[in-house]
Amino acid sequence: MKYQGINLENVKLSNRSSILLLLNNNGAMSRKDIAETVGLTAASVTLICSELIEQGLIVELGEASEEKRAGRKKILVDINPSYRSVLCIAIESDITYISVTDMKGKVLCNTQLPTDRESIPENFLKNVTDECQKLLWKNGIVKEKILGAAVTIPGSVDRANGISLNSYNIWTENIPVASIISKELGIQVIVENNLKAYAMTEIYFGLGRTVNNFFILKWGPGVGASIIIDGKIYQGSNNMASEIGHMTAVKDGKKCNCKRKGCLEAYVSTRTIKDELKKLLGDEYDNLTDKNIFENKKALEVIDQKIDMLALNVRNSISILDPKNVMLIGYMFDIPGCFERFVKAYKGYDPLVADDFFVKSTLSENSSHTEGHAVFLNEVLLTQFN
Ligand SMILES: [Zn+2]
Repeated sequence: MKYQGINLENVKLSNRSSILLLLNNNGAMSRKDIAETVGLTAASVTLICSELIEQGLIVELGEASEEKRAGRKKILVDINPSYRSVLCIAIESDITYISVTDMKGKVLCNTQLPTDRESIPENFLKNVTDECQKLLWKNGIVKEKILGAAVTIPGSVDRANGISLNSYNIWTENIPVASIISKELGIQVIVENNLKAYAMTEIYFGLGRTVNNFFILKWGPGVGASIIIDGKIYQGSNNMASEIGHMTAVKDGKKCNCKRKGCLEAYVSTRTIKDELKKLLGDEYDNLTDKNIFENKKALEVIDQKIDMLALNVRNSISILDPKNVMLIGYMFDIPGCFERFVKAYKGYDPLVADDFFVKSTLSENSSHTEGHAVFLNEVLLTQFN
């Protein structure tokens, strides 16, 4: 075997990624400050920046004002927001959201349509691409300006082949989403699981800017998680990592959607909780809302049991991973008081946990569902994709 040594192309790519990542996290900076922060020589930073400027990915912004007074000119560079756009298509169980974002993730225009679970998937996806075409045309965005489309969808995804494997609520068969959409729109398409795309959004625009190791727990219709290690999503060898909802919580327990028995999700999903509450409360159930649910003693007891079961399983997962933070997201944690009750239950298992260990997301509520933006940004920052 021939010894290859360090591949110079890879080193250059990694330096380029470090600079782009720094600018994304930090905003405009001078070449000198970039060099000091990423630990490269001023000459290498200048060289890489020149290439990125030529490519259009970054722009010069002029002089930093505080340096002017000192008589020294300091030119700042930053990611060029208008370099290209990303078409984000978020297929959620009820609504499909379509948005066009600039390189900084700003929504340039958007629209939405109901997710049609009844019609043939190919026909529904054709409707989606028709809406995309209309949106682009109405806003004067030419295809050449689009970097690509990122489709985010619940359930398992074969990312390499752009296939949705099982989105549970939307369709159960394998759908070659990327090839269908790419054929209609004539652009590159990446398909990604919606929670992984969300995790990538946190990496580039939220908690990930300051924390390298964290865990995201989503509690809603399903129970999902994402493990971020050294700033990257841990994928596992079969793309099945962090399936916390399918950890065994009860031996020979209730049947789960995944065909196993006793999964955590079979006990704590919102659907299960609603069914149990309906059975327990009868007519009283209809009066429950997100705001008053914890005022109902019987409902509170049921939910506290679920919270406790979830806390125990999170505690055990976390003790292996040792993340800096755990972020709690999803419908259940949006119910007023639920976050605090969960933390209290968790402390029952680990009284030593730090008060700031559990965090909420600081990203403002993403009503446009542009999680797909981070999926494409990841490609641009980490590969030579352009
Ligand atoms: Zn399961």
